[in-house]
Amino acid sequence: MKTKNLSIFSGGLIAGIVLGAVIGCLSWRSPKLVVREPAVPGEAKLEYTPPPPPSFSVELLSKYIPILSTLIRPKVEKITDDIYVAMGYALGNVTMVITDEGLVIIDTTESEEAAQKVLKDFRKITDKPIRYIIYTHFHPDHIRGTKVFYSEGVQIIATREFLNWINGQDPELGNQHFHRSLDFLGGVVEPDYAFSLPVQSPYLGGGKIPEVIMPTITFDENYSFTLGGKRFELIHTRGETEDHLAVWIPDERALDVGDLYYMSFPCLSGLMLEARPVHGWINSLSRFIEMKPDYLLLGHTKTLKGADLVQEHLKNYREAIKYMHDETVRAINAGKTVDEAVAQIKLPEPLANLPYLKGLYCRVDWAVRGLYHDYTGWYDGKGTSLNPLPSRYRSREIVALAGGADKILARAIELQKQGEYQLSAELCDIVIAANPKDKLAHTIKAYSLQYLAFGSNNLLCIGSYRSAYSVEMKAAANAQ
Ligand SMILES: [Zn+2]
Repeated sequence: MKTKNLSIFSGGLIAGIVLGAVIGCLSWRSPKLVVREPAVPGEAKLEYTPPPPPSFSVELLSKYIPILSTLIRPKVEKITDDIYVAMGYALGNVTMVITDEGLVIIDTTESEEAAQKVLKDFRKITDKPIRYIIYTHFHPDHIRGTKVFYSEGVQIIATREFLNWINGQDPELGNQHFHRSLDFLGGVVEPDYAFSLPVQSPYLGGGKIPEVIMPTITFDENYSFTLGGKRFELIHTRGETEDHLAVWIPDERALDVGDLYYMSFPCLSGLMLEARPVHGWINSLSRFIEMKPDYLLLGHTKTLKGADLVQEHLKNYREAIKYMHDETVRAINAGKTVDEAVAQIKLPEPLANLPYLKGLYCRVDWAVRGLYHDYTGWYDGKGTSLNPLPSRYRSREIVALAGGADKILARAIELQKQGEYQLSAELCDIVIAANPKDKLAHTIKAYSLQYLAFGSNNLLCIGSYRSAYSVEMKAAANAQ
């Protein structure tokens, strides 16, 4: 079974993460007091009462509601007389283009169940046969529902590069990518210990992942065809992935750009995934701007309508990506450390205030950190990081100097009470590195991660903290 890189901006899943967090909060049972006897007789016991359930702030929820309302309600939107987009059925959108001789489907979602629902609703609009399926890129939320749309004789088109990613990565990195992607989406790292998600997806809960139906036509840079008098121009446009393509339908002045634009600051450097072709992304956006589309069809989030609006969004998106890239390179050349670069590089006004450049999915600071590492590699030049000792060596020294693990954990509890969740969790990490079986350290850390999740306005943060929380809760359950 192929398990591919799941790097996605999700519809139902986003809603699931947010709603799951809310439901997780509502179904919270009050945690019990934990008491630890002192390691040294005569010293005070260490007492820890896990904090009460966190709650989403109204301010944060209000940021999600506009997105949730468009992403969780399955809806086929009519864009023109011949173009319809299905959104909210699955993680990815499906676009249907009607011609006199049949249909062209662009992307198929990650799930055959979702694809079936999409097709059922498309069939309320037209009963014409499907002739072509186009894959914008290899990510599973765009290609795994194909079986539902496919029948003998249907042509499936992708770039030739698509084959490299589907065939070439699987034996070495496929599973690892898959598991890491689940991690940042808050998926099934340790499902028995994570707070609940009300959403069902093949990627959550260990469901079967549909096989890929391979393309019948591939191309290097350009491919065009005409169906029912309507012309389709496919262009290899790198960006989110190396194999990405865009579909230009000149008669409709509609351009499907897949995942090269969506309503968030883009993932220029994915979490725990391969480096992304940022120069390619900038070039692709330049090409899209020159084409002056009236409609921008997307792999995720709502179609942009109107030539002026499309121009404005594409230009600002390109400017933001170029700015972050160029400033990071400038910081590297100026000899700044990665922490200095992250601290100093911000998106300038007015870009920083545009709703579609907010860090809802990926974030500006991650772009700097990721690009910095993509360019400079793992060694930071400090000497100590060239041949570092395993972290337990340093952690044991720190624990001993502090006067024992309980001293550090007492401070971690204090910091947690003060709302310093990150620092609290980092202190727990020191104790855990020195003694991986420290149940209390895992427990305190888990609750700090829970608070970090609830306090975040970034979807990948919520997912990643949720996953890390589940890992710590399992470690606590297994520790003595
Ligand atoms: Zn996608």
